Amino acid sequence: MKAAYSVPGSGVVKLREVEVPKIDDGELLVKMRAVGICGTDLEKVYGKPITPPMLGHEVVGDIVDSRAEGYVVGERVFAHHHVSCGKCYYCYHGDYTMCPLFLKTTIIPCGFAEYFKVPRINVERGAVLKIPDHVSDEEAIFIEPVGCALKGVKRSGFKPGMSVSITGVGPMGAIFIKLFKAFGASFIAAADLVPFRIDLAKRIGANVALNPREEDFAEACKRETDGRGVDIAVLATPSVKALPTALSTLRKGGVLLIFGAPEKGEKSLLDFSYIFLREISIITSYSTSELETNLALRLISSGVIRFSDLITHKFKLSEIDEAFKVAHDPHKSMKVMIVA
Ligand SMILES: [Zn+2]
Ligand SMILES: [Zn+2]
Repeated sequence: MKAAYSVPGSGVVKLREVEVPKIDDGELLVKMRAVGICGTDLEKVYGKPITPPMLGHEVVGDIVDSRAEGYVVGERVFAHHHVSCGKCYYCYHGDYTMCPLFLKTTIIPCGFAEYFKVPRINVERGAVLKIPDHVSDEEAIFIEPVGCALKGVKRSGFKPGMSVSITGVGPMGAIFIKLFKAFGASFIAAADLVPFRIDLAKRIGANVALNPREEDFAEACKRETDGRGVDIAVLATPSVKALPTALSTLRKGGVLLIFGAPEKGEKSLLDFSYIFLREISIITSYSTSELETNLALRLISSGVIRFSDLITHKFKLSEIDEAFKVAHDPHKSMKVMIVA
């Protein structure tokens, strides 16, 4: 079978011939149907990644072989690649993505493959979710990214009526806009450098969307919040350069949510006195646990929010290199989907 691989930072994704994985007791073999390209996948191919090297984790497929109880051949599933142990210090404290097991777990060989194996630990820890018939593959590939965003929303302390700013309108920024809108934000401001993304932000619910190099983003936020600034600012881009922009939109006592995974070693000079005197909280949110992937599936299944309109391109697995090039160009694409 074919599976994708890339030398980190090479800018090239290739397919190679590998053996279809053999499964043991407790494991599943899944035939890939659809998989989304994530910003962290792009980072693995083009940048200096800080996340594990496996490509393709927003993946949906059909079970073609099962040695796990409760799962049968033919069921369509989402399989989360990372799971926590549930019995360590971090898990007891609810910090599931900090569990030492979390980054060691994976699907084999990766999501951009004709088939992949779901290891026993992933199955046992509830990482495999059955997708209801009425949920399309196009919606189901959003289970993992929406789970990540739901965790970010929770960690930010957001409550209905609050005002928010989103710096960076890639697929994750767009998901945040949709969630905050549905969850009752009183004001949503978005900033991006790309006109197509600014237009999209407005279309999906941002009250204000602009290019921060052309207009004053902080001023635009203050105008709508009695001069205070927003309650929560989300940095939804891996670019640390955008951090001061996000920070500038915050009210005193506000929360800065760092969401986009920065490249390894990225540093930022922040004015500590500014942060201290304003009692700014800096929160980060990395990945997602089964807590949120389950919520994400229920949210998607309910149809309350649609995410598939963020898909701008579909490619076959055989076109994966081209798909990555398109996904890497913010002027051309939003969510890029790979199909079998
Ligand atoms: Zn992702
Ligand atoms: Zn643990």
